Amino acid sequence: MINLKKTKLKLKKSVWITIIILIFLGIGLYAGINIYQDIKYKKTDEYKLLQIGYTKEEIKILENNYKSGIKELLTKEKDEFLLSLFNEKYYIANNLNRYRDFFELHPDYSISKIISYVNTNNDYDYYEHDLDTDISKDYLLIVNKYYHLASDYEPDDLVEVNNKYYYGENHKIREVTYNAFKNMWEAANKEDIYLIINSSYRNYEEQKAVYDDYKNSKGTTYADSIAARPGYSEHQTGLSLDIFSKTHTTTSNFKDSPAYIWLQNNAYKYGFIERYQEENEEITGFSAEAWHWRYVGIEAATYIHENNITFDEYYAYFIAK
Ligand SMILES: [Zn+2]
Repeated sequence: MINLKKTKLKLKKSVWITIIILIFLGIGLYAGINIYQDIKYKKTDEYKLLQIGYTKEEIKILENNYKSGIKELLTKEKDEFLLSLFNEKYYIANNLNRYRDFFELHPDYSISKIISYVNTNNDYDYYEHDLDTDISKDYLLIVNKYYHLASDYEPDDLVEVNNKYYYGENHKIREVTYNAFKNMWEAANKEDIYLIINSSYRNYEEQKAVYDDYKNSKGTTYADSIAARPGYSEHQTGLSLDIFSKTHTTTSNFKDSPAYIWLQNNAYKYGFIERYQEENEEITGFSAEAWHWRYVGIEAATYIHENNITFDEYYAYFIAK
């Protein structure tokens, strides 16, 4: 009996020793794993970025917007410029290097200005960065001092304008523009505003004649300031109209007319936008023309109206991208 008890006690002792050994092993293992994980963590991008000065939130932004470029950030100082780009609505990833180059030239510009200029190609000189207008975009196609139409481009749905809508010579415009214009004309007319078309579709040769007249009499600089070069005029699209009113018929008085105010408040409902505004001359490349209205469809016109951007910016972000 006594012997048996001793065996039990011995057994219990060895169990205790085993438990203690296991506890120590556990603690050791736990500490080991922790040290291992710590070493491993210090090798992660997140740890390195935190050391450079990025916050956890900024690291998340980088992972969402710049995954492929994170490695190159690890060897540099904190890139505040990059982070500020990602906060901008109209940031386009493909333009990143151009944003950087342009910002280097214009460190006084705001980030949104940098984005606007680069998205609309204004980091290049006019007429020196030639791009073909993508006519498959239909009534959302763009023509400006970078995008141009071929000399033989002519829309295939040109229609004659009824003479109730214009003075002087005959006019042709694209059917899609015409239908929208007629609706707009009726709505304006109900408010005693009589819109009149003064200029409409112009083919390449006609634009060339207009431009060359200015160029031959006063030189290229003057001609460029007042007219688009052939191929670069929106009038060749059949989507643009120069609109005046019965009471205000000149380029100098139209901007003070009730018709102009009416158009500013209502044209977007019919798919038209004021293409060349005074505050956007550097983006559009054209002096303000209160009378020049472009058809882009109701959806785009409404967005442009509500967000106060140019068609050039809209095109870069929503159509070309
Ligand atoms: Zn015009």
